[in-house]
Amino acid sequence: MSGNEMKYIDEAFRDNWVAPLGPNVDAFEQDIAELVGVKGAVAVSSGTAAIHLALSLLDVQKNDVVFCSSLTFVATANPILYQGGEPVFIDSEPETWNMSPEALEEAFKDAERTGKMPKAALIVNLYGQSAKMDELSAICREYGVPIIEDAAESLGAAYKGKASGTFGEFGIYSFNGNKIITTSGGGMLVSNNTEALGRARFLATQAKDPAPHYQHSQLGYNYRLSNILAGIGRSQLEVLASRVNQRRAVFKTYKRELAHFPGISFMPELEDTFSNRWLTALTIDEGLAGLSPVDLLNLLEQENIEARPVWKPLHLQPLFQNYKYFPHGRTESVSERLFKRGICLPSGSNMTLYDQMRVIAIVKKALSSKVRCNNLENIDELSG
Ligand SMILES: *Cc1c(COP(=O)(O)O)cnc(C)c1O
Repeated sequence: MSGNEMKYIDEAFRDNWVAPLGPNVDAFEQDIAELVGVKGAVAVSSGTAAIHLALSLLDVQKNDVVFCSSLTFVATANPILYQGGEPVFIDSEPETWNMSPEALEEAFKDAERTGKMPKAALIVNLYGQSAKMDELSAICREYGVPIIEDAAESLGAAYKGKASGTFGEFGIYSFNGNKIITTSGGGMLVSNNTEALGRARFLATQAKDPAPHYQHSQLGYNYRLSNILAGIGRSQLEVLASRVNQRRAVFKTYKRELAHFPGISFMPELEDTFSNRWLTALTIDEGLAGLSPVDLLNLLEQENIEARPVWKPLHLQPLFQNYKYFPHGRTESVSERLFKRGICLPSGSNMTLYDQMRVIAIVKKALSSKVRCNNLENIDELSG
C-alpha cells in the first residue's frame, strides 16, 4: 500500500458510499482511461471478469473459436470456457516470450481450411512485456478478427510509446493482490468503443433493462467493483510510476549480478518497448549452468525464499488437453522450452536491497559451485 489509501476509503465511509459504484469508481475509471490514453474504462471485480465481459461483447458463444496465448495464467483462457467457446492456443516467440506472429499466421491458415474462423484473438503481455503488437495486429486485421489484450500483468508498460493494453478492441488490467498495483481484488476493461463500454456496464450490473420494474431480457453478471476498493485503486494509481521504477531496478540488479553466469538468460525487452518488469524472469540452461530451475527453486525454498516457475503453458494443462495448439516452428515449441527452463525470482516493489542480495548470494553460490564442478570434470576429461 502507498499510505494514501485511507483518504479515499474514509471519504467513501463519510459519504456512506459503501456500495458497488460511487464517486471513487467513476474517478478510478477516468484516471485509468486518461493514464493509458483510451476513451473509457469500466471497473470490475477482477481481471478475469473483464476478460469475460470482453468475450461477451464480441459475441463469443457456444463452440466459437478464440485464439489465445498459451504461455499465460489460466485466468486468460477460463472465460472462453465460461462462454462455451473453444480456445485454440498459440505459442510464444523468443524475443518477447509472447504470442508468435508465425504461429498465429499458421492458426489462421488452418482456420481458413477448416472454416472455423475465431471470433477474437486474446493476446497476453507476459510479466509486463508487450507482445509484438504491430505484427500481431496486422495479421488479425487481415483476417478481420478483433483483439482482446490481456494486460493484467503489464499496466504501466508501453509498446512504441503507446500504453500496453490499448492496442485491441478491448484491453484488460488486473488489480489482484499480486499485481503491480492492487485493490486487493479488481480489474478494468478499457476501450475506445464507448458504446461497447456502456454495454459492459449494463452486463456487469445484472443486465437490468430500463424499465420501472425488474426486467431482464439478457444474461448478465454481478461484476462491478465496489466504491471502497476503487478508493484503494485511486491512490495506488498515484504510485504506479514509482512501482514500475522499483520493479525495473530489482530486475537491473539481478541482471547485473547474475547475467554473466553460463546458461543464464534474462527475459528480453524488445526494442522500442518498455516493460514494467512485474516479475524478474530468467531461463536456466541446465547443460551450461549445471543446475535446473527446480534445483534452484528447492535451494531457495530451503532458505525460506519463495520463487516460482514460469507459467505452465495452457496447451499442456489437463483442463485444455482437447484443444488445438500452434507452435512457433514445426519442431520448436518456445513456450514449452520457457516452461522447462524458466524461473521468476522474488520481485516485490518493496523488496529491500538487503533481501535481494540474500537471494542473489544463494543463486551465485549455487551457480558457481556447479560451474566449478563442471570445470573440474572438464579438466579430468582433458587430462584423459
Ligand atoms: C492475474 C491475471 C489475470 C486475472 O486477473 P484477476 O484479477 O486475478 O482475475 C488474467 N491474466 C493474466 C495474464 C494474469 O496474470
